Amino acid sequence: MVQDIVCGMEVDETDSRAIMKEFAGQRFYFCSVECKLLFSRDPLLYISQSVETGEMTKDIVCGMEMGRQQTFSSLKYHGRWYYFCSESCTREFQRNPQRYLGQ
Ligand SMILES: [Zn+2]
Ligand SMILES: [Zn+2]
Repeated sequence: MVQDIVCGMEVDETDSRAIMKEFAGQRFYFCSVECKLLFSRDPLLYISQSVETGEMTKDIVCGMEMGRQQTFSSLKYHGRWYYFCSESCTREFQRNPQRYLGQ
């Protein structure tokens, strides 16, 4: 299984009906034509989000600011990446993401 870089859904890349697009020598798989379209429109938007380093980011659970290399973990949720300083913050977010994304 691979992850749809747009929405974060798991995609079976061995399925002959899998929606795939090659970009910069890499293969990307999508759950739907819509996701592929979104990606095709602005691939760098999605790629840079997943490989960005060095930039400051914020743990939305505890509010701590940290560099991307200092993060304990990252989670993709609804197509966006979230970074956490510790295992407890990661778990807390997984338990109730809406609480932190609500505001
Ligand atoms: Zn998708
Ligand atoms: Zn934290």
